[in-house]
Amino acid sequence: MIQISLPTPWVAVGPVHVYVIKEDPVTLIDTGVNTPESREALVDGLKQHGLGVKDIRRVLLTHAHVDHMGQAAWVRDQSGAEVWLHPDEVGKAEAPDWWLEGRDLALTQAGVPLPVMQGMEEHWQRTKRLAIPLNGGWLPIAPGQRFAFADRVLEAVHLPGHALGHTGFLDPASGLLVGGDHLLQGVTPNPIMEPLPPGHPAGAPHAPGRALTLGLFLAALESVAGMPVTQVLPGHGTIIPEHGKVAENYRFRHERRLGRMWDRLRASATVYAVTREIYPHVEEFNIFLAISEVLAHLDLLADRGKAEIEPSPNGWVYRSRD
Ligand SMILES: [Zn+2]
Ligand SMILES: [Zn+2]
Repeated sequence: MIQISLPTPWVAVGPVHVYVIKEDPVTLIDTGVNTPESREALVDGLKQHGLGVKDIRRVLLTHAHVDHMGQAAWVRDQSGAEVWLHPDEVGKAEAPDWWLEGRDLALTQAGVPLPVMQGMEEHWQRTKRLAIPLNGGWLPIAPGQRFAFADRVLEAVHLPGHALGHTGFLDPASGLLVGGDHLLQGVTPNPIMEPLPPGHPAGAPHAPGRALTLGLFLAALESVAGMPVTQVLPGHGTIIPEHGKVAENYRFRHERRLGRMWDRLRASATVYAVTREIYPHVEEFNIFLAISEVLAHLDLLADRGKAEIEPSPNGWVYRSRD
């Protein structure tokens, strides 16, 4: 498995790692953002291993965030490669109406003021340029799908939480797991708000139009613990030899945060009010990440029966319960 690091425009995120399997069919896992610097780094990285973009036969995407999906359409168009993505990533990949409306509804229920939503919208428009639209030119990964090579097989492992259709790719023979943003050394991935189409089973019981992201993430951590994984090859940062420790750390931090937020909700508040207390200075896209983080925790408290919700015109008000 060859690792190639591609630059992103974000200092805090740093480069994104993509992975190449130089076996028939030559496969690229994730693709980097769509910028000239990232494209050059991908072409150079492939060249160092005797490959050109035209040699790629298959692209597997861990999820549809722009740093992972950004150049997939370009690689596909250059090479004729198949592009595979979990169907639950369709919202981010294609931005259908239900997804945009669901996002606005969740932000309204979180009590986010209109000017703040407008600021986020401008940022989303800028971020969109970092990915070339796939326009439906991709194939949906099926549960447990196996991708065969001449001498190995990769199993798709659904790891929702950071993204609803987030997928890892496990080589059961070597125990290598290409983990995308599910497990990162020294960083806790944000459980980002995910609107759902009507009838989707991942909905929060009190808000079926959005996923119970933190609940999904904690369950996915459990599922990796039971897999024969020796190393996680992450989307950012260093390779993770002891994934159990990282997962344990994530669980500890999230449970501690749940406890703190439960404490905070003795005086009732909206998601936005709690976000502004914890993160008073964040703006634009970071405020969306911060709101997502708080929403994920408050929704999980409600799901566990530890918080009650009262809808109000200025956003849902959460209050802790014993
Ligand atoms: Zn991501
Ligand atoms: Zn990422």
